[in-house]
Amino acid sequence: KISYYNGQFKNDDEITVDYNDRAFYFGDGVYEVVRVYNNEFFTLDEHMDRLIRSASEIGIEDLDRSKMVEIVTQLNKQNNISDGSIYIQVSRGIGKRNHAYPLDTKPVVLAYMNETARPTDQMEEGISAITAEDYRWLKCHVKSLNLLANVMEKERAVRAGAHETILNRQGIVTEGSSTNVFIVKDGVLITHPADNMILNGITRLEVLKVAELRNIAYEEKTFTVKELMEAEEVFITSTTQEVTPVIEVDGEMIGKGLKGKVTNALQEGFNERIHKLNLV
Ligand code: PMP
Repeated sequence: KISYYNGQFKNDDEITVDYNDRAFYFGDGVYEVVRVYNNEFFTLDEHMDRLIRSASEIGIEDLDRSKMVEIVTQLNKQNNISDGSIYIQVSRGIGKRNHAYPLDTKPVVLAYMNETARPTDQMEEGISAITAEDYRWLKCHVKSLNLLANVMEKERAVRAGAHETILNRQGIVTEGSSTNVFIVKDGVLITHPADNMILNGITRLEVLKVAELRNIAYEEKTFTVKELMEAEEVFITSTTQEVTPVIEVDGEMIGKGLKGKVTNALQEGFNERIHKLNLV
């Protein structure tokens, strides 16, 4: 497999990373995961825009968007993977460990491609989730490498035999540890507004476009853990999980404990977009 680190494409087993890369010491960088279906990128522009935006939010201003596109395009071409995902991270650079930014360093890019199957079983059968307090920082709109709270809270789900942890701040549901969260209440689709409390998921935005196209009423507004538990339907979204129903939260059944009608319609619409139908 061909991967990329700090200016060079190499075979996986020939890549060595610099231990002074600030990604190691501080998680000082940002990243993206882009999906490839049938050898073609899905929503590449949106992911590249968000990468540049995230970088800019942490003071990396000199990131070359066309260079980033070139790297992921090369990886997609050179690795013979039809259904995959490309991970790309940008760290602030290389320098002796010191909190303050090194004076003369430039961003260091690491990128590779993995084979990734669609989560077809989970998309049909649904998953279970637990709830937990959201104690992350207040810049969750930045797709930061610093994911300590996210990994700790995902681990809590795994240990409870569940699949995802749905986070809340003082009873307001924000998002999952690596997903956005939607509920259906009185037939209306609801998800947290795209502010600093959540990562504005590309899949989240795709789902909202599908809702628009299919005349499914939706609102971007906050909802509580109580509303989550009492929702008709709950689902999570992400690049790799797509639109996955949540049928159980904290051991309690959501709705009828099956994939709901609205979730199903949104999955259908999302599928059409993957296959390049109904694009807006
Ligand atoms: N929220 C968080 C915290 C995430 O890590 C992710 C996935 N990276 C998402 C939401 C979903 O974003 P996307 O649909 O762009 O993958």
